[in-house]
Amino acid sequence: MARPAQSSTTLPLPCGPASDEVDRPYWDGLRAGRLLLPRCSDCGAWREPGRILCDGCWSFAVDWAEVRAAGRIFTWIRSRRDFMDDLDVLAPYETVVVALDDVPVRLLGLLSDDAALEPEIGQAVAGWIDEPANAAWPVLRWTREGDR
Ligand SMILES: [Zn+2]
Repeated sequence: MARPAQSSTTLPLPCGPASDEVDRPYWDGLRAGRLLLPRCSDCGAWREPGRILCDGCWSFAVDWAEVRAAGRIFTWIRSRRDFMDDLDVLAPYETVVVALDDVPVRLLGLLSDDAALEPEIGQAVAGWIDEPANAAWPVLRWTREGDR
């Protein structure tokens, strides 16, 4: 299915640290050009940014480590309506959940390439850090391999 080319660097989701700042190192990492994820200090299990408890041992202790922004599309959805007026979203756009290659974590983000191809489950993607003019924080975006 073909889609119109997307020509805007706008965001579908609010970005920046949560009010409790539990994910602050993730956002600071993006600002520094690095993808940082939390890892349990007690058992070593990886977590998604924003999770305060370890799924493996229920520990609150966490360290942050840099990971490679590469993975495969786990699932995706196409939004056809601009529903975030304050962020000037231009539909249609695809949001993907990416299963990272190197750690067992899935991350949400925009698929930002302009290819007129429907995303495919399992397709390789690479992350890159975008700093949209209308956002206070950088965001991680995804591009299909070969489209960079
Ligand atoms: Zn743990």
